Amino acid sequence: MSNTHEKPVRLAGAIDVVVIGAGHAGLSISYLLGEAGVDHVVLERGDVANSWRHERWDSLRLLTPNWQTRLPGKCYAGDDPDGFMPVAELIRFIDDYAAGTGAPVRTRTRVTSVRRTRAHYRVDTNRGSWVCNAVVLATGACNVASVPRVAADVPGHIAQLTPQDYRSPEQIESGGVLVVGASATGLQLADELLRAGRDVTIAAGEHVRMPRSYRGRDIFRWLDRTGIHHERYDEVEDINRGRRLPSPQLAGSHDRPILDLNNLREAGAVIAGRLMGVRDGIAQFSGSLRNVCALADLKMSRLLARIDQTADAEGAPAPERFEPTRVDDAPLLTVDLEAAGVRTILWATGFRPDYSWLNVPVMDRKGYLQHDGGIVASPGMYVLGLPLMRRRKSSFIFGIEDDARDIALHLIQYLHSTTKGNSNGIHRDDTAEPGNRLSA
Ligand SMILES: Cc1cc2nc3c(=O)[nH]c(=O)nc-3n(C[C@H](O)[C@H](O)[C@H](O)COP(=O)(O)OP(=O)(O)OC[C@H]3O[C@@H](n4cnc5c(N)ncnc54)[C@H](O)[C@@H]3O)c2cc1C
Repeated sequence: MSNTHEKPVRLAGAIDVVVIGAGHAGLSISYLLGEAGVDHVVLERGDVANSWRHERWDSLRLLTPNWQTRLPGKCYAGDDPDGFMPVAELIRFIDDYAAGTGAPVRTRTRVTSVRRTRAHYRVDTNRGSWVCNAVVLATGACNVASVPRVAADVPGHIAQLTPQDYRSPEQIESGGVLVVGASATGLQLADELLRAGRDVTIAAGEHVRMPRSYRGRDIFRWLDRTGIHHERYDEVEDINRGRRLPSPQLAGSHDRPILDLNNLREAGAVIAGRLMGVRDGIAQFSGSLRNVCALADLKMSRLLARIDQTADAEGAPAPERFEPTRVDDAPLLTVDLEAAGVRTILWATGFRPDYSWLNVPVMDRKGYLQHDGGIVASPGMYVLGLPLMRRRKSSFIFGIEDDARDIALHLIQYLHSTTKGNSNGIHRDDTAEPGNRLSA
């Protein structure tokens, strides 16, 4: 398609690197690029830590302990290392990081397009365009709540909500709630709604069960000590599956030794299998709940057995085992939503990134970004913060440092190899596509 009729765009600047997104990932690579003297800018559509400000619920606390809240050049320095920080405290932590590192962030600058222009990238925003040698996509893995197609068949009088819309139980109209999804988000929200006196049904598909603490230590301490969180992406047997694993059933609190289907059932929840369809107001659930739970129990036992090897060597208290997930003999297969008083469905069915603005052919047939450990399939393009991107810990805050260091190193070598002989290798001519004038 010809660009002849495109409007001239305002050139905001020519620069070595554009980092998109000022969450912890974008700010971390910005810090490392700054240390290496690489000229860059961080473009952010909202404010620093925007996702935490606008896309999380009120009571959320990190499920990672405070001692693990660290970024390159900054560690948690409070007096509760084993506690779990509320979102407001994390926002302050990230804000302080951005200010303390002098990150060159341009807030309220939404990237609307990234495309390749000859040897460079052109990054269009609502505040002009940038031309650069390299781009880092640090826009997060959780931009959009994934909602299954069955949502379209839900009767109109039932409210539908995603975790990005949900703030607190008061916001939900009276009546029962069907929480679809039994991973960290689904169980935390089901727990909160039960405590608020709501009738809750949980539709549980595949999930990852894990105790909050084990043999006297927090589970994240063990995942660190055993090296599980540090496993590299190229050592994992089925990387595609590994990258799609749901988040573990954990909450940021020592209230319960374990947050699982058993204790939510005790608190009053009705547990059903995966939601398969809704027809004429009747929700239909899979009959495989028993198998799904047995698999989650088995995987938890394997994980604990692996931890035991390290725990034994370190003289930790004796191994514990947890009750298998209780499942009714006759699984619940259908619920008449109206008759059961269900007035709201909360889709805790995961999140996905949004790259709708990325006009570079780097997506695979299933719509996933093609990358090798964060090195995207387009020269000079990188990504950060995706699940199991370079390591099991990649999508966690504490996982960013190692990944960002690796990516910064590759990126700097890339810049050296492509821009030898001139300051940033960008010539005015390179900014223009045929028929597309850029004006300063
Ligand atoms: C509910 C929930 C709970 C979580 N709990 C934990 C936890 O306890 N511990 C933990 O370690 N991790 C947790 N995570 C995972 C992870 O740490 C967060 O998702 C974190 O926000 C990811 O950081 P990020 O910098 O990669 O992305 P984000 O924080 O999402 O930052 C991306 C930034 O890019 C901006 N952006 C997006 N598109 C554009 C665009 N087109 N132009 C300009 N800017 C753009 C966004 O506004 C945003 O500020 C949780 C995630 C979720 C969803």
